[in-house]
This record gives sequence, structure tokens and C-alpha cells, in this order.
Amino acid sequence: MTPTTPLRPQAHASAILTVDLTAVVQNWRALKRKLAPNCDTGAVVKADAYGLGLQPVALALKSAGCQTFYVAHLDEGITLRSIVGMDARIIVLHGPIFGTEQEFAAYELIPVLNSPKQINSWSTFAQTNNIAMESIVQVDTGMKRLGLSEHEFEALMESPDGFLGLIPLALMSHLACAEAQSHPLNEMQRILFETMLSKFRKKFPNTKGTLVNSSGIFLGHDFHYDFARPGVALYGVNPTPQLPNTMNPVVRLQAKILQIQHVKSAGPVGYGATFQAPYGMKLATVSAGYADGLLRSLGNKGHAYIEGYSVPVAGRISMDLTTFDVSNVPESTLDTATVIDLIGTQYTLDDIARDAGTIGYEILTALGHRYHRHYLTTQAK
Ligand SMILES: *Cc1c(COP(=O)(O)O)cnc(C)c1O
Repeated sequence: MTPTTPLRPQAHASAILTVDLTAVVQNWRALKRKLAPNCDTGAVVKADAYGLGLQPVALALKSAGCQTFYVAHLDEGITLRSIVGMDARIIVLHGPIFGTEQEFAAYELIPVLNSPKQINSWSTFAQTNNIAMESIVQVDTGMKRLGLSEHEFEALMESPDGFLGLIPLALMSHLACAEAQSHPLNEMQRILFETMLSKFRKKFPNTKGTLVNSSGIFLGHDFHYDFARPGVALYGVNPTPQLPNTMNPVVRLQAKILQIQHVKSAGPVGYGATFQAPYGMKLATVSAGYADGLLRSLGNKGHAYIEGYSVPVAGRISMDLTTFDVSNVPESTLDTATVIDLIGTQYTLDDIARDAGTIGYEILTALGHRYHRHYLTTQAK
């Protein structure tokens, strides 16, 4: 052991992040059960599996039978290839930017081709090198982010060498408002996608369709097509924000209490003196702050739990520290409490996101790197 390796990582860490991999797998299976009979599902593991750890998450899903993984970047695809081996399908959502076609071929990564330029480069590469590799073509059906516009799609369809050398596995699009189930854009996007897919299939008869993310799965079978691309719901965020969450919780975050203060003279708490602590208030300061992903917008807004007692954030969140008003926690509990539950079943990813004025996605991907990460892998129920 080298002197820089912590002897007891859990003891050294300011906070413990527990990731329940069994719950991730259960969520993946639950989403699968919601899909139309012939629709298959992969798992989106971009951004380090939404901050929870690419390797443990991908391996857990792979052993549960997941064969298709989505990442955003080429380098994520290369890393994932070394984790899952050659017998899983890896789809890179951003495609080969900056002329990286040969890396896609070398690591057998399936590119999503988003623009006429990407299609052109990929088809030139495939023809020059005589490479027969599947790709996915993305069309923009209403989000104006990535994908061929209707006009660009039509132009390529009409040109005899428009998609020359391509072996399209699927036509893909992405919904802008899937979590708002009654939003009219959902159906508008679906109809446009349907039209483009049937045109595309005249040229490439066996092309699959893929339209839905986590929330899109809950829009019903009409939206599912051939394969789904769930991400956030796997990690426990509610894909149907207007309805109760049916996903299993995945994340528990517990920060260690560094100090408890019994306020003897009333006065402000934290930077900027934005919170006034009256005489008699009890304050607990924990070793986690915005550098650990506790967003600064939670200052004077967020909550946490000490053994069932809700404790509000007192004052601003510092870089490495956060103070809570723990006045309502009985002395006997405070005497023995060592941690505060920052995220868990009582205060969920969706709760903390709401209080921070953001979404669960941002809470997950902001989770810090100073936590001790503990992965639970009990037998699937
Ligand atoms: C991130 C992403 C997904 C997954 O979305 P969730 O809302 O996390 O389920 C699916 N498709 C595309 C194109 C994405 O970029």
C-alpha cells in the first residue's frame, strides 16, 4: 500500500454516497414491462451513468441482460467498451464529431448521425474503407437541438447518393416535453416521426424506430417503436412528475456531522449573514457543500433528515460545509447522531431538486467526487 491510499476510505470521507445497484436493475426491468411487446430497451449511461459510476452501473445492467448502452461522447464509448466487452451494443449519441470515424470503427461504437455533415463524413468513411457498420440517423421532430430538419431529411431522401454506404440500424428522434404527458408537442413530434420513419423505410426497409426517453415510456405504446432509451428513471428520478414516483430509490447520501452548536447568543449563520439564529437554536454543520454537489441555491431552502426529523438548511451553502437548524431533534438523538441524510427515501432526488430550483438530473450529475461511494448489490427480488 502506498502512503497516499486511504487506510479506511469510508472513515476518511466527509460523506457516504450509497448507490443501490439492485434498485437500478429493478427500475430497468420495471421500465421494460411498460413497453409495447416488441419494443426492446437499453440503458442510457452517459455522464458517468448520471453521476453514479459508469462501471458498476453498466456491469449491473449487463448482468441483468441489458445489451444496449447509450453514451453521449466518443470517450465515454471507448471507456464503456473496456468495461462491457465486445458483446454489448454501444451507441454514441453525439456521433463522430471532428473526424473521429476511425475510432468508432476500431471500438465498434454505433454513431448517431445528427447532421448532413456527419452523414456525409460517415458515408465517405464507410465507402473509402469498405466498412459495413450500423449507424443511427437522428431527425429533429420539434426540439431544434440535434438531428436532420425535415427539409434536410427530404433533400437526402431525394438525392440518389444521399445515404450512400449507410447501414441504418434505426431512425431516432427525441421528445422535448415527454414528462408533461398532456403537452401537445408530444403527439406532434410522434406524428412527424411516424411520417419520416415510413418514408425512410421505403429506402431502408428494416430500419427500427427509437423515440422515447424515460418519461416517453409513460406516454403509451404508440410512442415506443422498436427500442427505448431510458436514463434518469433507472436512477430513481420520477419520470412522471405529475404522478407518484413508481421507480425504486437508488441514491442515499449521508454527510457526517462535524459540530453541533447550541446558540448562546443570537446572531447570523454562514456567509453573508443571511440567516439569524435566535438564542437556544441548535445548529449542526456537516462536511459537504456546493463542491460536493449540494447546489448553492439550496441555501435557506433545502432540508435534510436526522433519523426521521426534518432539519432545514440554515444560511448559505459553503463550498465544503452546510449548516442545518436541528432544534427540533431531541437531545438524545443528537447525542448519538453521526450523519445527516441529505438524500434518501424521506427527502428524495426530486425533493432536493425542487428546493434547489432544478431537476433530479442536475442533482445526480452534480454529485461530488469526495464522497465515499458504496455500491449495494443484494440479490434481485
Ligand atoms: C439523455 C438522453 C436520453 C435519456 O433521457 P432520460 O430523460 O434521462 O431518460 C435519451 N435519449 C437521448 C437522445 C438523450 O440525450
